[in-house]
Amino acid sequence: MNNNINNNWTDIKSGIEKICKNFPESYWNKLDQSRSYPTDFVDTLTKSGYLSILIPEKYGGSGLPIRAASVILEEIHRWGANGAACHAQMYIMGSLLKHGSDELKQKYLPEIAAGKIRLQAFGVTEPSSGSDTLSIKTSAKKSGNKFIINGQKVWTSRAEYSDLILLLTKTDDSEVKQENLSLFLIDMRPHLNKSIIIKPIKTMINHSSTEIFFENLEVDEDCLVGSLGSGFKYILDGMNAERILIASECIGDAKYFIDKATTYANERKVFSRPIAKNQAIQFPIAQAYANTRAAELMVKEACSLFDSNIKCGEESNLAKLLAADASWEAADIAMQTFGGFSFSEEYNIERKFRETRLYRIAPVSTNMILAYISHKVLGMPRSY
Ligand SMILES: Cc1cc2nc3c(=O)[nH]c(=O)nc-3n(C[C@H](O)[C@H](O)[C@H](O)COP(=O)(O)OP(=O)(O)OC[C@H]3O[C@@H](n4cnc5c(N)ncnc54)[C@H](O)[C@@H]3O)c2cc1C
Repeated sequence: MNNNINNNWTDIKSGIEKICKNFPESYWNKLDQSRSYPTDFVDTLTKSGYLSILIPEKYGGSGLPIRAASVILEEIHRWGANGAACHAQMYIMGSLLKHGSDELKQKYLPEIAAGKIRLQAFGVTEPSSGSDTLSIKTSAKKSGNKFIINGQKVWTSRAEYSDLILLLTKTDDSEVKQENLSLFLIDMRPHLNKSIIIKPIKTMINHSSTEIFFENLEVDEDCLVGSLGSGFKYILDGMNAERILIASECIGDAKYFIDKATTYANERKVFSRPIAKNQAIQFPIAQAYANTRAAELMVKEACSLFDSNIKCGEESNLAKLLAADASWEAADIAMQTFGGFSFSEEYNIERKFRETRLYRIAPVSTNMILAYISHKVLGMPRSY
């Protein structure tokens, strides 16, 4: 294990580049076809210490700011790889670090930092409450010094490859909805196939998504993160980290598509000249580049505010919105530039095209960000 990663972006980038060169696009293509988890890639990242960079040094991590995680995830995506198999360990960490008790941190963080256990699952979405997080139904009822959890989550990614889950539940039926919710950090291992049933969901991308059923799951009260009824507030904090890091992946995807499209346009000859000579090919790529660079600035701004502990809801949301749009624009333009060959699995464009589409829907949809900007930033009336 190497948990001494330096806060130097150039070193981090070249470290990730080296790893990604050992996991070329053919590796990701093969896994995509069999919908298999990139175990070797995740093990390598874990051993190299990159997945525990946000864990403070006293718990065995490198104690770096979110900007370091942003650089890592952008770089992974820039090489045609995908951080989705393991990125949650970075953005979930914020809720635990900021709000978890010392005992909870001491219990799990050293083992996570040592690569012995994984915290990769974040259970918020439910079948009947997607964007409307406040209407979740999964409940945790207090019984002595235990909580009994019942309910169902859906789209919980990586649950089969995670030991721990950060789970949002209702803990109170009172009217004040925000104060109904609480957050738990649960070790799923002793409960698997008993009071926790995990079922994979087949999807258009290789994302290890699942639905999870909780039936009379009994957990100790010390699994509660922070105080009872504060879960919604805590995940809002965590969601800023999530938005920033997903936006970083989008920037990586956008750069990947722009590089691929530019190289292909310069090489591909039609009518005896490179297609790049046509402005109808050049300009959309140039426009995608401009939009990507602008979105990248917003990601950096959000990172800088987050790392200075300054409110960054607006910037994190804007970063996610602009970066997801930029990667989708770049993906579409790469498809157009590659023409018919973009449909061939061999070129990887179709795989990345499918993968990057996700970000305009999850972890938060473009509409919900526009609603946030309309309501919270511009002060217009709530539409829901
Ligand atoms: C591959 C994948 C992985 C995921 N991983 C996780 C995970 O690990 N953990 C987890 O908890 N969740 C996860 N999710 C869930 C994801 O966060 C949700 O899909 C997302 O938040 C949208 O919720 P929904 O799908 O229920 O859409 P809905 O809430 O049903 O919305 C459907 C559409 O209607 C729009 N809409 C709804 N209400 C409004 C409104 N008031 N105004 C305007 N438009 C509106 C939405 O923007 C969306 O476009 C994942 C999803 C996918 C697809």
